[in-house]
Amino acid sequence: MWPAVARAARMLRTRRVSVGRGDPAGEWAARLIGADRYVPGASVSLEDAGFYDVGGALVAWSVGELVEASKSTPMVRVRVPGCRARVWAKLEWFNPFSCSMKDRAVASLIRGASRHRIYEVSSGNTALALASLASARGLRAALYLARHAPMAAEEAIRLLGQRVERLPHPITVEARVDPGPGWERLGQFESPLNPAAHMRGTGREIIVQARHAGFRPSVFVAPAGTSGTVAGAGFMLHHYYRGNVRVYAVAPPRGDVVEGIRWQEWPSGWARLLLPPGTPLLHVSRREAVLMLRVFARLNGLLPGPSGAATLAAVRGLCRAGIVGAGDDVVVILPDHGLKYPGFLSEALGKVNRIP
Ligand code: PLP
Repeated sequence: MWPAVARAARMLRTRRVSVGRGDPAGEWAARLIGADRYVPGASVSLEDAGFYDVGGALVAWSVGELVEASKSTPMVRVRVPGCRARVWAKLEWFNPFSCSMKDRAVASLIRGASRHRIYEVSSGNTALALASLASARGLRAALYLARHAPMAAEEAIRLLGQRVERLPHPITVEARVDPGPGWERLGQFESPLNPAAHMRGTGREIIVQARHAGFRPSVFVAPAGTSGTVAGAGFMLHHYYRGNVRVYAVAPPRGDVVEGIRWQEWPSGWARLLLPPGTPLLHVSRREAVLMLRVFARLNGLLPGPSGAATLAAVRGLCRAGIVGAGDDVVVILPDHGLKYPGFLSEALGKVNRIP
C-alpha cells in the first residue's frame, strides 16, 4: 500500500499515470487517485486516465451502487464572518445514505470486507452509512453508537433492519465491543480503504471543482475523527498542487464534545502517514462552534452540523490571526447537516446549555 501512496503522489505531481505491466503498486496508485483508464506499460495524462471525470450519469443499477454512481457533492462559495478570503464549502450532506461524507469511506470499506456480518463503533454517520449499505447489499450489520450520537440514528438503524446498541463512551475509537464469532469489524480507524475513499472521492472532486470554478485552493480545512477525510483529501491537494496548499485539521480540545470529531494525539493515524510533517491540528471548542453556527446560518442560509461549524470557526480563527487573508481560496469540509442535531441548534438559539 505505502509504495503505492508514493507512486500516487508522483502521478499527481507529474500529472501523468504510468503503470508498468505486472506492476501491482502502480495499479494501486492509479486506483487511489481515481484514475481508471490507463494502458499497462504506457504513460498517459491524468486527463486520458479519467482523473477529471468525477461522478457518473446519476443512474445506479442498484441501491448498493448509489455512492459510486452519484455525482460529486456540491461546492459553494460561502461567507465566513471576519474573513476576507474566498471560502468554498463542500456540502457533504448531499451523500445519499448517512447524508454525510461517511458514505464514501463505508462504501469503500464494505467492498473490502470478506464476511457477510460486519460491525463497527460510530458517532452516528458511519453507523447510518453501514446500516443502509448493508441492507441494500443483503449483509448483516451490528452498530455500536457513541453516547452522543443522534437519537434519530438509533431509530433509523432499527428501521433499516440492523442491530444497534448505545455505548457509555463519548468517543468510539477505544471502545471494545464483541458481537460474537463470525463478525468482521469494518475498521474505519485502521483500514487504508478509509483515506483511499477520500483520495479518489473528496480530494479529486475538489480538484475538479476548483478547476471548473477557475481557482487554485491555497488552504484546506477539515474536521478530524478517524482523520480519513482530512488525510485522504489533504494528500490529494498537497501533491496535485505541488505543496502549495496548507492543510489544517480541526478537533475539540481535550474533554470537550463536538459530535463526529474528537480530541487526539496529533498527528494521528492517517494524518501521520499521508500529510506533510508539521500539518497543524486546530482546537475549536463546542462553544466556538455554537457561536459560529449562529452567525453563519443567517449569513448563508445553510445549517452545518457541529463538526462543520467547528471547521468554519477554525477558518475564522485563521483569518483573525492573519494566517489566511484576501488572496486565499480556502476549501472547507462541512460533513453533515445541523438538522440531525436538534440539541446543537437549541444551544445556538440559547435555549439549553451544553450537553453532558
Ligand atoms: N464530522 C462528522 C459529523 C463525522 O461523522 C465524522 C466522522 O464520523 C467526522 C466529522 C470526521 O471524519 P473522519 O473520520 O474522516 O476524520
